[in-house]
Amino acid sequence: MNVLVVNAGSSSLKYQLITVETREILAKGACERIGLGESTFSNSMNGQKMELTLPIPNHRTAISLVLGILLKNETDGKPSNITIDAIGHRIVHGGSYFKDSCIVDDEVVRKIEEIAPLAPLHNYAAASVIESCREVLPSIPNIVSFDTSFHATIPEVAWRYALPRDLCEQLKLRKYGFHGINHRYVNMTVNELTGGKAHKIVSCHLGNGSSITSIKDGIAVDTTMGFTPLDGLVMGTRCGSIDPATVTYIIENTNLTAHEVDTIMNKKSGLLAVSGFTNDIRDLIESTEAGHPQAKLALDMFCYSAKKYLGAMWAVMGGIDTVVFTAGAGQNSPYIRTKTLEGMEHLGFVIDEEKNQERHDEPWSIAAPEATVNIFVIPAGEEFMIAYDVKRLLS
Ligand code: AMP
Repeated sequence: MNVLVVNAGSSSLKYQLITVETREILAKGACERIGLGESTFSNSMNGQKMELTLPIPNHRTAISLVLGILLKNETDGKPSNITIDAIGHRIVHGGSYFKDSCIVDDEVVRKIEEIAPLAPLHNYAAASVIESCREVLPSIPNIVSFDTSFHATIPEVAWRYALPRDLCEQLKLRKYGFHGINHRYVNMTVNELTGGKAHKIVSCHLGNGSSITSIKDGIAVDTTMGFTPLDGLVMGTRCGSIDPATVTYIIENTNLTAHEVDTIMNKKSGLLAVSGFTNDIRDLIESTEAGHPQAKLALDMFCYSAKKYLGAMWAVMGGIDTVVFTAGAGQNSPYIRTKTLEGMEHLGFVIDEEKNQERHDEPWSIAAPEATVNIFVIPAGEEFMIAYDVKRLLS
């Protein structure tokens, strides 16, 4: 079954066409800078790559371009031989409605739009992409997978905010959690790797956006992101958890609007703010090794926050038997993995430094023989997870 996996971001649309059974990626590409001018469209398939700069005013135009190129019979004179059996969409926010992925119908689209105020930049874009797919390819089923739904099992003691109940109800305030599609993929992969013998897993998704989720017997029990993806760890450009009173204090003591403070916390904080020059972890590692003190401080804060939440997850689950590093820095950086687990050897987290330096496209273990905890690196697999969801729901 060939599944087109579509990921609509606020100003981008990324896609992969995957044969579910073999995991072969038949085509992939992205539309970037949608609605911002100088938009680009890149696609690679049949061993050929192309990149265009052209006007892409909105996500409907973007998905039309993608479907056009994938379904066109000729690519530079060669038949594309590509079929699309179903389309899987990544949706950032499922609110309290969606506790699992599901097949799209009118009611599903209506609910995604209803929830959109919780993630306005993403959900409206995704809804418009779904509508376009249904119009252009009415006989092909659409499936939606939500970044929030894996966290639907988190107990009330962890998801409820200690704010007045009526305010929470009126504004739907609570911890939702994000990166759930990848945390679910991590859980599935650990099950395959251990033959179902892992019961207390902590998935550390460490990228530009970062979150840590604890998973007990397949069920998410807590996660670090909250009502929005701003909460939890120090991230690339997000400040992570700070005293909420800081926000009102800034607004009362500067000319900044609430919107401007939100932009600062999401786009100008985190590693970028602490280092003063970049949110890119590769650059920060290089600068740290060259003796740049603020780069080192930024990385120290990043790994310290990951370690702190790992400890919190250890406490709430009554121990950890498996820890996983995934996403950009988690799956690529020995430095970040070592620094995060440093000092936790007495709890069984002992890394084999040789295995830690390896690089693979497939999951691998970096645990030392004396470790009492499984330590895996698992390349992020949101697209595969969505493709599996499509197959599961259509079977
Ligand atoms: P993501 O948001 O998952 O794409 O992750 C992006 C982050 O991963 C960026 O900060 C990158 O610098 C970081 N990253 C990617 N590759 C490496 C690497 N080899 N070493 C360290 N960090 C990396």
